[in-house]
Amino acid sequence: MISNVCLVSCRKSPLYDNCFLHAPDGQPLCTCDRKKAQWYLDKGIGDLISSDPFVVRLRFEPSGRPESSVDYYLTVKENLCVVCGKRESYIRKNIVPHEYRRHFPIQMKDHNSHDVLLLCTSCHAVSNYYDNNLKQQLAVEFSAPIGCEEGMRMLEDPIRRQVRSAARALLHASKLPVNRREELLSEIRAFYLVDDVTEETLKNASNLETR
Ligand SMILES: [Zn+2]
Repeated sequence: MISNVCLVSCRKSPLYDNCFLHAPDGQPLCTCDRKKAQWYLDKGIGDLISSDPFVVRLRFEPSGRPESSVDYYLTVKENLCVVCGKRESYIRKNIVPHEYRRHFPIQMKDHNSHDVLLLCTSCHAVSNYYDNNLKQQLAVEFSAPIGCEEGMRMLEDPIRRQVRSAARALLHASKLPVNRREELLSEIRAFYLVDDVTEETLKNASNLETR
């Protein structure tokens, strides 16, 4: 019951670095991790506006902009357990388990970090225990199948995992069909908000942390 948690290692770096990306006209676009912000600087396609907080202004028109200034993705988030406030050894918690979420309509999935929160390992174990009780109930009442995927995968950020595996495929698979290749490239473009994907971008993406 209090299952896979001890088998899963905690994150090596904070989930939220709270670095900011700004559009060329200064509009805040989103928060991101330090590695990603630094990547724009290293590529010479962004300028450092401030180092604390770490703000990078893009030199190119981004492929998307937030719809409002109170966008969830613009708020600063703290690296701590949302239940007990502990600041060490936290892992992501998907509030809606993946096995249910995968059946949601696409518009409920595309902005997907809303229901990902940080929990420390002990709060995570407790919440899994209650999740499992509720899953049993849902299985009885609605015949909902119970967790088919391995626990490890469910702890990962699906978007980052997808971007990472896209990059690995592009780097290592020798013969990809043209349209598959294009599909993978567009995932990477969307993640980095760029039009061109270089070898270096791929290498960076292939090492993304996903937990
Ligand atoms: Zn906790």
